[in-house]
Amino acid sequence: METMPEIDIDVQSLPSQVSPPDHWQELAACYGLDPEVFFPTTEEEAGLALSCCSVCEVRDMCLAWAVRNGERYGVWGGTTEQQRRRLIRRVA
Ligand code: SF4
Repeated sequence: METMPEIDIDVQSLPSQVSPPDHWQELAACYGLDPEVFFPTTEEEAGLALSCCSVCEVRDMCLAWAVRNGERYGVWGGTTEQQRRRLIRRVA
């Protein structure tokens, strides 16, 4: 399995007040897209979702939501499952 590149995000700097996705999903770059794209079966298949996240204006909120709610599966806020696990491990 390919290892996704380490991402340099300071988890502590993410928004501390996070609202649930239904409050910001209409602003999301993935709004209306097939959710399956964001739940790839392998890290290697996450490219399309990650490129969508790269232009998303609610990316920080999305990542904060995923981190604070322990979202284990899928691409959230421009991170894969593996990248998020590493991010969380760094601050644990
Ligand atoms: S950061 Fe990615 S997963 Fe999150 S709302 Fe934006 S496009 Fe969707």
